[in-house]
Amino acid sequence: MKELDWANLPFGYMKTDYNVRIYYRNEQWGELETCSEETIPMHMAATCLHYGQEAFEGLKAFRGKDGKVRIFRLEENAARLQSTCRGILMPELPTERFKEAVLKVVRLNERFIPPYESGASLYIRPLLIGTGAQVGVRPANEYLFVIFVTPVGPYFKGGFSTNPYVIIREFDRAAPLGTGTYKVGGNYAASLRANKKAHDLGYACEFYLDAKEKKYIDECGAANFFGIKNNTYITPKSTSILPSITNKSLMQLAEDLGMKVERRPIPEEELLTFEEAGACGTAAVISPIERIDDVENGKSYVISKDGKPGPVCTKLYNKLRAIQYGDEPDTHGWVTIVE
Ligand SMILES: *Cc1c(COP(=O)(O)O)cnc(C)c1O
Repeated sequence: MKELDWANLPFGYMKTDYNVRIYYRNEQWGELETCSEETIPMHMAATCLHYGQEAFEGLKAFRGKDGKVRIFRLEENAARLQSTCRGILMPELPTERFKEAVLKVVRLNERFIPPYESGASLYIRPLLIGTGAQVGVRPANEYLFVIFVTPVGPYFKGGFSTNPYVIIREFDRAAPLGTGTYKVGGNYAASLRANKKAHDLGYACEFYLDAKEKKYIDECGAANFFGIKNNTYITPKSTSILPSITNKSLMQLAEDLGMKVERRPIPEEELLTFEEAGACGTAAVISPIERIDDVENGKSYVISKDGKPGPVCTKLYNKLRAIQYGDEPDTHGWVTIVE
């Protein structure tokens, strides 16, 4: 293989050697299969195509300075996929099967795991879809679980930096009792217009308020929100936010650093009071927020006065990355080493 330009990989799809698959038929999960095809042959009446029976996950494997490969919070991703399955009536894949599949696909594509020095990683994308044919609105009787991997570049190419966000009031991502807490493709289809509008206006990403009252902070694009003030890490409590595993990890690290952690509704005006804020998720860990504009209301909440990431965001970011790459001890048992 031609040596890849590891440090300049985009966050996009690149073909690797193998993917792995498990079929669900006759009310049971089958054997783990290895596949080198990138396509999925499917019945045209499959429920994933018509009625959105589709769930996905996203996690990463990192190569350490010691050469070992570490996968971050594998069991948490398995549990979240199970929760999504309950949410849209798909059969749950047991954690052990999920783990077996992730380890297998990472080992099979070992040559695509970027070297430590590049700051890049291997993105792991599990997907579960209803493949059984159905015309009436009903859950499928057959499913396919697939995992592919693709190497992805370091998120911050020019160094850890801040971005501007914009509140979009015109579109909602998820309803208060809808599917916002589940990692399903439907939420993403619902977010495309808001995301495009934010980009067209020159912002990094769209920011959502709660769909019912338009008073409280919900999520930013496909990332959770947190704010920092008075030595406290504050993140929204809402019934339409996807429970981010990065956010959960940052809450623990903030506590470890002696900070208080609050999960509660955050009114929009409170944005003015934060010393720092960030968007968090697997892709970037933390994307520090420069400011959040509410264009329709003519307001702008400037969070970073000098346009640079604050000290708490920086500390949390460095700490989490150090655990992922094995530079610091994994005291919470978050990492699975690929043997
Ligand atoms: C995946 C996702 C996140 C981030 O979750 P992580 O587990 O931290 O990667 C946040 N919001 C939405 C809508 C998501 O789909």
